[in-house]
This record gives sequence, C-alpha cells and structure tokens, in this order.
Amino acid sequence: MANGKTRKPNWRCIKRHRNYTVNDVARELGVAKGTVRRWIKNGLPAINDKRPTLILGADLVEFHKRRTKPKHKCKRNECYCLKCRVPRIPAWGMVEYLPLTSTGGNLRGLCPECCTLICRRIALAKLPVLEGILKVTIRRQTND
Ligand SMILES: [Zn+2]
Repeated sequence: MANGKTRKPNWRCIKRHRNYTVNDVARELGVAKGTVRRWIKNGLPAINDKRPTLILGADLVEFHKRRTKPKHKCKRNECYCLKCRVPRIPAWGMVEYLPLTSTGGNLRGLCPECCTLICRRIALAKLPVLEGILKVTIRRQTND
C-alpha cells in the first residue's frame, strides 16, 4: 500500500447498509482485528449467532460517533442531546433523577427540539444546585 501503515482509519468508507465481518472492518479501517473485537466487547453491536460475526455498517458508524463525540460542556440546566448534538435545556425545565449508585445517577429529560431523551450524569450531592433551575423528580428503584 502506498500510504504506509500509519494511515488513519477512514470511517467514511464504511457503508451504513453493508454488513462487515471483523476482517472486513479491520481491512477497511486499517486497524487490528483485535481492536475490532475489543469494540464489540465494549458495546459495538454485532451479530454473534452466525459465523462469521457480522457487524452492520450503520452500527459501526454510530459506535464511532458515540466514541468520538466532541467534549461538550453542559450548563447546569442543560443536558446533551445526542440527536441534535448540542446541549439542550430539557423541555418544561423538567428532569428525572435516576439513581445509578448511592452517590450519583442520571438526569433525564426530553429534548425540546426533537423529543429525544437527553441525559446527563450527575452526583447526588450536586442535585441541590439544580433547585430553582430545573424541576427534578427523584425516581427510586421500584424493586427494592
Ligand atoms: Zn434534540
């Protein structure tokens, strides 16, 4: 290959409507097969019940987007909308707090533009900061 082995993965060559094997992905992107398998382990959706394992081009592109999403700063009253790709103030200023651990959880609201669920991790200790800014409903796990 003329451009050597240090070429950057070219995500643009991935076709959304195509299926790829691990080998295909490695070849198309110029990465190691082990890298692709690690992506699958890390949440890249793959069709594992057939051999060879198949990866949907669309899934691959989405996975890549999620991994490389720009570092965004949300203001205190904002959550990041993955669809609009900008921080949004949740519709009606309303969010739910869903505890994930004893010290933190997710704030969840609706994007006022596209109605997608928007989320943000937040420490439980920081919830009082939102008082007067957002209407927070605290959800509790129902199964305990
Ligand atoms: Zn949105």
